[in-house]
Amino acid sequence: MNDFAGKTYALHEIDIHLVEMTLDIMKYVIGRITEKNPQLGYFRSEEELREMVGNTITPHGIGGEKALELWKDVLSKASVSIDHPRHLAFVPAAPSRAAVMFDLVTSAASIHGAYWMEGAGGIFAEMQAMEWLVSLTGMPEGSFGVFTSGGTLANLSAIVTARETWRRDNEENCARKGLIITSSGAHSSIKAMAQVTDAEIIFVETENRMMGADLEAKINTLSAEDRQRLFAVVATGGTTNAGIIDDLEGIAEVCEKEKLWFHVDAAYGGGALAADSVRYLFNGIERADSITIDPHKWLFSPYDCGAVIYKNPQLAKKAHTQEGSYLDIFKDEGANGFNPSDYQIQLTRRVRGLPLWFSLAMHGTDVYKNAVERGIELAQIAALKIIRNRNTELVREPGLSCVLFRRIGWKAEDYKNWTYTNHKAGFALVTPTQWRSGDSFETVARFCFINPDTSEHDIDAILATMD
Ligand SMILES: *Cc1c(COP(=O)(O)O)cnc(C)c1O
Repeated sequence: MNDFAGKTYALHEIDIHLVEMTLDIMKYVIGRITEKNPQLGYFRSEEELREMVGNTITPHGIGGEKALELWKDVLSKASVSIDHPRHLAFVPAAPSRAAVMFDLVTSAASIHGAYWMEGAGGIFAEMQAMEWLVSLTGMPEGSFGVFTSGGTLANLSAIVTARETWRRDNEENCARKGLIITSSGAHSSIKAMAQVTDAEIIFVETENRMMGADLEAKINTLSAEDRQRLFAVVATGGTTNAGIIDDLEGIAEVCEKEKLWFHVDAAYGGGALAADSVRYLFNGIERADSITIDPHKWLFSPYDCGAVIYKNPQLAKKAHTQEGSYLDIFKDEGANGFNPSDYQIQLTRRVRGLPLWFSLAMHGTDVYKNAVERGIELAQIAALKIIRNRNTELVREPGLSCVLFRRIGWKAEDYKNWTYTNHKAGFALVTPTQWRSGDSFETVARFCFINPDTSEHDIDAILATMD
């Protein structure tokens, strides 16, 4: 054990203390990634944390030992381990252990992932992982994509590309405020990113599958002026709330006929493209102009890692390439190669696809297929248990790995108390949601399975807390 306190270090000093600190951190990391039942974690108020942690930022530093100790004893416990096997809320995550280890390598390697000239080796590895993702979609030859910080940025990058393409095709569109159609089951980021681009959104009002005919009917209600403003349709490949996949085939048909950009947001559901048992549900996705998939959701990457794929990457390049004299050398023939920054919003970027690449290279894609199938299987198992349990019933059949169910007799308040009780006990984090049918909203419970470490016993134990 060493003590950093009291000694002033130069920021980049290398000595025995640094080596010991590195070992301490490695020890923590190894412990964490080999733990199948990490602490669940429970938030504390800012005042409580301030009391427990004190002020850590001082002119002379508190020392690495002390800071790591505060992390282990207080701060990490006040943060939820998203990979806990009974964390079934939101869309959880379960990064593979190989991917987490390689996330450390990605940091240690210090690679700038914007331009080939700087990051060729890392970018090449990312590209191999991306080729696999593209192959899952069945999109035509020439389709390609980049890793982004998440689904939100991937959706934004796609919307900007769609809008710029629309405006390039007809200069008059530059004076028009764009219009996007999506379903009310679409993720909140679609609305938020439309706002960022100053586009308007019109919803097909359904939490169920948006059908091609629904889209067509909505388009037919538009005034001539609004029809001119319409430039894109966003379908969802696995809604976040219920795992519902829109009628991608029918929607593709309408988009082709109406000459509209067809974006599929498969941030959550995209991982299921690898699962043979449900792949047919995504038929039509291969006709998309762009697709969002979040490897940090159902493809077992650590945060943060999203992806956007384009049928015609040149259109993205025209929309996103940044210009500046200090950047010219990166675009020179001599440094030619794939520059990820040309295809999405971010300039400086870590090679965030590297952890996925390493894990895929190590395990092979079959292991990924099986791990995704397990999530779907867990949803089916949970559904059976819910049906057999006299206190609970399904709201609808599971969608991908999402299960919506009700505890007979419970009101919204009961679900909320149940969530907090289980969370506070360090036992499970399962949250309520709302299910909309017609005009009525009902509070219900929701499971989302991602983690292959979740067991049948975990499901039984959670259902038992509803008795
Ligand atoms: C999670 C999610 C997003 C947002 O992705 P982030 O990675 O959180 O930015 C977008 N769309 C869908 C369908 C999602 O499930």
